[in-house]
Amino acid sequence: VTALAPLRQQMAPYACQRRTPLLHSNQLLTEALETLAEEAGFSGSEGRSLAFTRAASVLKALPGRLSTPEELGPLPGIGEHSRRVIQDVLEDGVSVEVERVKLSERYRTMKLFTKIFGVGVRTASRWYQEGLRTLVDLQERNTKLTRQQQAGLRHYEDLNTPVERGEAESIGQMVQEAVQRFLPGASVTLAGGFRRGKPRGHDVDLLLMHPEAGREVGLLSRVVSWLDSQGLILYQHSQENSFTLHEGPEAPGSRDVLDRFEKCFSIFRLEVRGSPGAARGWKAVRVDLVVAPVSQFPFALLGWTGSRHFERELRRFAGHERKMVLNSHTLYDTRRNLFLPAASEEEIFQHLGLEYVPPAQRNA
Ligand code: ATP
Ligand code: MN
Ligand code: MN
Repeated sequence: VTALAPLRQQMAPYACQRRTPLLHSNQLLTEALETLAEEAGFSGSEGRSLAFTRAASVLKALPGRLSTPEELGPLPGIGEHSRRVIQDVLEDGVSVEVERVKLSERYRTMKLFTKIFGVGVRTASRWYQEGLRTLVDLQERNTKLTRQQQAGLRHYEDLNTPVERGEAESIGQMVQEAVQRFLPGASVTLAGGFRRGKPRGHDVDLLLMHPEAGREVGLLSRVVSWLDSQGLILYQHSQENSFTLHEGPEAPGSRDVLDRFEKCFSIFRLEVRGSPGAARGWKAVRVDLVVAPVSQFPFALLGWTGSRHFERELRRFAGHERKMVLNSHTLYDTRRNLFLPAASEEEIFQHLGLEYVPPAQRNA
């Protein structure tokens, strides 16, 4: 009997039923599993990728350090392959399979390319097949790039330098000031990893809303144009709102992360005094701006707070266990054929019959 035994029995099968703090005691194991999840994703094996992600997520929710493979016993959601990796890391400190992946040319190249803003697995994979291996290759061989990818390449180093919390807050402030110019009373909320308590992140996720329904219409383009005129925007592409209730509850799409809010994917020019942009005096930072109508705000906030795996699990739980359709706009009960409105994230958890999980515990 080990210290983990009594708590392990409480491990619920869905990540949204568990509390997953940012810091946990099994970092070595979760990093190994997440490397394999990433590699599976690079090969287009979504199912295999999810299996490794699930296993890693279970370990993140353990209250203590796993010290022997036996302790794994009846933990849910850990498949045979993941168990083998865990065993190797516990016994030898590393997994030979993971080390081999990390050294492989394909993994390294895929990683290099997918770190370019606007480059997904499919594009990176195609470039790899064509024999491209470095960022210089992309330029020298005149690879066709979208405007987004060109910006991603131009700012590659900055965009792959973590955004610090203070920087995220400065950007939130800049956006808040712009928002107040055009729509006093509107709010700007920091979502994403920073809302979950992460000290740094890959971008800044901001939700815009106004407490009076409809007032938010037209706000985003004004805010973005103004910031642009001030020289604060290095790149942006906006997407119009395409959500209508008449399309039915499943309209927002089968892809679990996509939603239909008006939004702007951008790169900001942030003045910095410290490193690494110190010499230049500024740093490029990725910013996502999303506009949510007040009635959808709690769903948008829940959807944009993440983690990605937590969101995926919430939606899976809603569908499989409750016959409900959850997305970043609404919650629909297919048994009663009605939408379940919510004024807060807490109410959404209540509708789902789930214990409320605060943002800091959603690091699944
Ligand atoms: P990081 O520090 O890497 O930014 P993060 O958790 O903030 O970590 P993001 O990729 O910024 O990661 O995503 C935050 C959340 O927003 C995700 O959980 C996801 O559900 C949601 N999200 C991200 N991109 C989109 C998108 N294009 N459409 C809809 N939702 C999205
Ligand atoms: Mn983010
Ligand atoms: Mn984001």
